[in-house]
Amino acid sequence: MDFERARQYATRIGVAAALSAVLLAIVLTFLINDRPDIGAVEWLPVDDIAEPAPGVVTMTWLGVGTLLFDDGDTQILVDGFVSRPSLADIVFRRPVTNDIPLINRVLLDYDMERLAAIIPAHSHFDHAMDIGAIANRSSASIMGSESTANIARGSGVPEDQVLVAEPGTEYAFGEFRVTLLNSPHAPIGWRGATPFSGTIDAPLELPASVGEWREGGSFSIVIAHPQGTALVHGSAGFSQEALERLQADVVIKSVAQLNSLGRNYAERYWQALVTGTGVYRVLPIHFDDLTAPFGEIRLPPRIVDDFPQTAGWLREFRQTWDQDVNLIMPTFGEPLAIYLVSPAPSS
Ligand SMILES: [Zn+2]
Repeated sequence: MDFERARQYATRIGVAAALSAVLLAIVLTFLINDRPDIGAVEWLPVDDIAEPAPGVVTMTWLGVGTLLFDDGDTQILVDGFVSRPSLADIVFRRPVTNDIPLINRVLLDYDMERLAAIIPAHSHFDHAMDIGAIANRSSASIMGSESTANIARGSGVPEDQVLVAEPGTEYAFGEFRVTLLNSPHAPIGWRGATPFSGTIDAPLELPASVGEWREGGSFSIVIAHPQGTALVHGSAGFSQEALERLQADVVIKSVAQLNSLGRNYAERYWQALVTGTGVYRVLPIHFDDLTAPFGEIRLPPRIVDDFPQTAGWLREFRQTWDQDVNLIMPTFGEPLAIYLVSPAPSS
């Protein structure tokens, strides 16, 4: 009799567990599919920017934080993230590796035959996953932290293409002069921590789980050129002190999960990067779903990041602090002449 009762009890628990699992799956499916529409975000149209002309510095946004700067002679790639691990790869920490055929195609499609430097904002996979494979297909130097250097070494990049940068020191690549400034990563991890924190202390061999791309220190990247200076922030962390005396023309800033840090934080981030540096253009980046295939720009699920809310704040900050500043949403793969001043035509 007791045995029969125990059996009924176990059956009931089994049914309840199965129903809970189904319910959880339904809720998760709903949350993952609740994505804001990127077309609904109000923004200044990109055609406020002049058409790129020969010799004019352009910046091409290639999704997430990857940016290609080009002055016609020299190209600088900020970040290198082309392969796109899936949501399941990230959640279950499945080993991932470079999508070589795709990288080859991207290097051809975007004419990256004059790459002088590849500079990740930090060493997380969504910034630095493909830097080694790209460097191996060019003569570009990989510049960054010791962790970034270990990503390069793990991919077999020759040591003479690996440059561990001294923060605050200027490095010249053609007419570009690049300075890395120490900057904290955005505190978007558990209780304000940096996700996948720590350093990569040995060559990172692939395949590896996304968690093995440790942050390794983050940078504000200052890219100066006779035509203008860009300040690039691949993560929404900032150091007031590091930016204190910096003057720039254009700021390209990550807004990934900025809404989760609150309006006050977002406003201080704006003031440090935009108001304080005197830039005339602001381009948000890293608002797109990093698990989307390369070239497909869609917003992440609202539960992960609410970009329409962030975009609303940015418009308010511009209205409050910097009405002369243009707020521009970059279009994937389109070279933008980011500076107002065009060079005098060479004779
Ligand atoms: Zn990061």
